[in-house]
Amino acid sequence: MNKRSITILQLYPRDMNIYGDWGNTLVLQRRLEWHGYSVNLTEYNPGDSFPDDVDIIVGGGGQDSGQDIIQNDLLAISQNLHKLANDGVPMLVICGLFQLFGKFFKTQDGHIIEGISLLDLETHAGPERLTGNIITENKEFGEIIGYENHSGQTFLGAGVTPLGKVIKGAGNNGQDDSEGARYRNVIATYMHGSLLPKNPAIADFLIDKAVTRKYGEFTPSVIDDRFAEQARNVAVKRPR
Ligand code: GLN
Repeated sequence: MNKRSITILQLYPRDMNIYGDWGNTLVLQRRLEWHGYSVNLTEYNPGDSFPDDVDIIVGGGGQDSGQDIIQNDLLAISQNLHKLANDGVPMLVICGLFQLFGKFFKTQDGHIIEGISLLDLETHAGPERLTGNIITENKEFGEIIGYENHSGQTFLGAGVTPLGKVIKGAGNNGQDDSEGARYRNVIATYMHGSLLPKNPAIADFLIDKAVTRKYGEFTPSVIDDRFAEQARNVAVKRPR
């Protein structure tokens, strides 16, 4: 019998893939294989035709210039992304795409990069970059550990909840202790690192949602996360 398969779509790897964001996709691929699934890895860049059959979407960070480049294309596939998100497709969007899944990002020079308003939030470039190691707390995932580097200060509206509460670091805006955002099975965060190697609970959340949506059930394998644990232990001790 053919193995059950899951399709992962990496959004804009050409323009939005700094800080090792591609590593998140590799973690999803490897853990899916460990859980017994085969993986179909696809990428989407500006001008490509948007695939119909997608189970998980991953999008990375980018400089303001990368966000400018993808803006029009992202707006053109907005409907596809809204439809998939509202249908429960799990997504992980980091930093630059976190901002553009919201309403807009207003840059330091005052121009507006419009987003797709899938997430009820807006971002304004602040006077200083918020940079350094960050730890947040989330009831479902425990401590979330990563690294942030953004000028944008993001403010959440009522339609989303924060992903975590900041324990160490700046988070969305350095003011209200929120970090990231959640809407349905969409997870958005400023955390690079990559995020998923140090936070396998989030990887398995995305996998669980994708597999359950496609096949009706998900029975996880027991995975040896010793190395992830070691990485977490080191990362939490690092200075800001
Ligand atoms: N250009 C955006 C900012 O600085 C996003 C940066 C990023 O993706 N790291 O806020």
